[in-house]
Amino acid sequence: MSDLITVAGVSVDTRHWIGGQRVASADTFADLSPIDGSVLGEIARGTPAEAGAAVAAAKAAFPSWAATPRAERARILHAIADGVEKRIEELAIVETTDNGALLRSHRRGVMPRVAHNFRFFADWLLKLDHEDFETRGHTNHVSWDPAGPSVLITPWNAPLMLATWKVAPALAAGNTVVLKPAEWSPLTASLLADIAAQAGLPAGVLNVVQGYGAEIGDALTSHPDVRRISFTGSVPTARRIAASAAPNLTPLSLELGGKSPLLVFADADLDLAVDLAVEQYDNAGQVCLAATRILVEESVAEEFTRRFVEKAARLKQGDPREEATDIGPSIHSRQLEKIDGFVRRAVETGARVVIGGYRKEGQYYAPTLLTDVAQASEIVQEEVFGPVLTLQTFATEEEAVHLANDTRFGLAATLATGDHERAERVSAQLVAGTAWVNCFFVRDLQAPFGGSRLSGVGREGGTWSFDFYCDLKNTVTAPNGWNNHG
Ligand code: NAD
Repeated sequence: MSDLITVAGVSVDTRHWIGGQRVASADTFADLSPIDGSVLGEIARGTPAEAGAAVAAAKAAFPSWAATPRAERARILHAIADGVEKRIEELAIVETTDNGALLRSHRRGVMPRVAHNFRFFADWLLKLDHEDFETRGHTNHVSWDPAGPSVLITPWNAPLMLATWKVAPALAAGNTVVLKPAEWSPLTASLLADIAAQAGLPAGVLNVVQGYGAEIGDALTSHPDVRRISFTGSVPTARRIAASAAPNLTPLSLELGGKSPLLVFADADLDLAVDLAVEQYDNAGQVCLAATRILVEESVAEEFTRRFVEKAARLKQGDPREEATDIGPSIHSRQLEKIDGFVRRAVETGARVVIGGYRKEGQYYAPTLLTDVAQASEIVQEEVFGPVLTLQTFATEEEAVHLANDTRFGLAATLATGDHERAERVSAQLVAGTAWVNCFFVRDLQAPFGGSRLSGVGREGGTWSFDFYCDLKNTVTAPNGWNNHG
């Protein structure tokens, strides 16, 4: 069996990338396309031995990469960005075939942003400094020292985008990396390894190990040579990783799930509010930030619902490679069953289906809106990760804030209001890593990104990423410098 597969005309190596070499495993797992369920290829199925080899390669490469001048690290990151830009079409079609998200957004939005991730952190690295300051004549000099080998574990819903949010700052900081992509969408990580090698990234600085988290996760996260773990994924996995990292007290960054609200006040531009609500079906609802709980002020609820239903009916669901498609498939048949289970249990406990509520042929779930849902119910409290929204009403601003904050999550919140003071007042009270006012999904890499409560630990972005990937050191020099006793 060949180690290379061809996916939508693009050749992808199915083996791990460890210490600058392609490495096979004795066993493989099948990678399926959510578009039609076809098998794209057999992928190397990592074992703890390969996970250990990847950490060893990252450890061996660390001293030299950490000592590489910042300008040289930045130059290589820009060269990786160039490589991504040259292959945008290929990366876009492979990602769409592998995870089912829209080709047009991969092509025009996501893959250019992947290149930007490298450019941004390369440039930020060169600005990263702390002014020296004095304490009773002593000089304090703060340095951003690379922390060491870093394990980066990522999910399937935006594979290369989320991986490079971590890979780029980790490499910029001078760390070496073991990337573990999700088993449902491993292909673009393999292409990234090729691009990085062609850009001149030294062997062992970026390693990619594929496989099931349950089989190789612990070997990575409990490893004593690993100095940072950055994880994006679900809360149950985060708990396992935290437990596994605990004996070594390895610092963790956790970007987890959400159950974010969209608050629609009666003073809002209702068409804008409807646009924001319908946008929550993007990527078939497989977006951690999705505002899946729509909270509408009672006086406009009927009109809002009427316009929402009208707009949602125009969404085209189908093959994500087609330009006109708005909503693609769910990632996996298991995810589809999970979504359907949530909806069926909600209906059994009194929810009313406004639109959708059923599976379609293939791996597609109809965009769904449920109402008559209780605040304490599963459908309001738990992340579905599918195209399923709930609608609740509120009578007062106080009630809106209460409902918005009344889950165990705190990733994001979106407000639609025409009142500037209300926007300030309400957003100040929301428990959320990001609050959007009359907009959604605007993310500048220099802003902190992350969640409160069960939505995560720590923040990514700009200086916050370097705070995480570096060991900050303060060097204090005596007033007389080297001749203190002279
Ligand atoms: P998941 O937790 O099942 O898997 C994520 C990754 O963890 C995969 O690579 C998986 O192989 C790995 N993994 C599984 N078990 C492991 C273990 N024991 N040790 C180490 N690694 C292990 O999550 P998912 O289903 O792939 O992703 C969906 C979740 O991710 C949703 O909850 C979503 O909200 C969240 N998410 C969060 C953000 C964010 O930025 N906050 C972004 C995207 C997705």
